[in-house]
Amino acid sequence: MPELPEVETVVRTLAPVVRGRTIVEARFLSPLAAGGRPEELAEALRGRRIVEVRRRGKFIVFELDHGVMTVHLRMTGKLLTTAAESAYARAVFQLDDGEVVFDDVRQFGRVEWAEALPENVARLGPEPLSVSLAEFSAGLKARPRAVKPLLLDQSFVAGLGNIYVDECLHRAGIHPLARASRIGRKKVEALHASMREVLGEAIAAGGSSISDYADAQGRAGWFQRFHRVYGREGEACMHCGGAIQRIVVGQRGTHFCPRCQKR
Ligand SMILES: [Zn+2]
Repeated sequence: MPELPEVETVVRTLAPVVRGRTIVEARFLSPLAAGGRPEELAEALRGRRIVEVRRRGKFIVFELDHGVMTVHLRMTGKLLTTAAESAYARAVFQLDDGEVVFDDVRQFGRVEWAEALPENVARLGPEPLSVSLAEFSAGLKARPRAVKPLLLDQSFVAGLGNIYVDECLHRAGIHPLARASRIGRKKVEALHASMREVLGEAIAAGGSSISDYADAQGRAGWFQRFHRVYGREGEACMHCGGAIQRIVVGQRGTHFCPRCQKR
């Protein structure tokens, strides 16, 4: 599933192409992509000008001259400016210059439109790249639960998913089951710093392409080559040489180094 670095990469490759363009017509080839209301959405989007495109958590937010269109890629969604790259088009946005195709093999992705920023985006937690150490630290202190599921909770911080939580916890030397409220000050500082480092490096690499992810031009990312724990069960830890383990935490496969990340 695309996480913050992948969605950020899509926005960075998409925005320069669509900013200032007008949606001449929106066609939903699958009603699912429009959350079951394709006609209503097509009507709302017709003739709207795209003022800006930005990321909030894992959402792509299109600020229009009237209302807001949001896209969540979920598992396999892509927003492509090159229709030739699309094999599973679910919606086509015909612009006054060019087009954008919403491609989605598994069809969990959603396009929505609302008069104002919808509640599911408005209530997201702070961004991991900009949350202050004080706010992040106070948030952890207040939550006596395992740190991994907490970091996956989009109301706590918005944009992290399974890959980047595992990578950040490994860099900070924190066990995925450590109780958030009991993590010491040094480790909290390390975790705060590791979020910026890992996400920054991943954005610079165009994200991680594990299965379907691609940017708006259909290009894969290469950060998966730099994963230190995710998907490396049984391989040597790059820090201590010990074997990376995989456990299940809150139904999510979790990769960590038992030597570097003690409970
Ligand atoms: Zn290690």
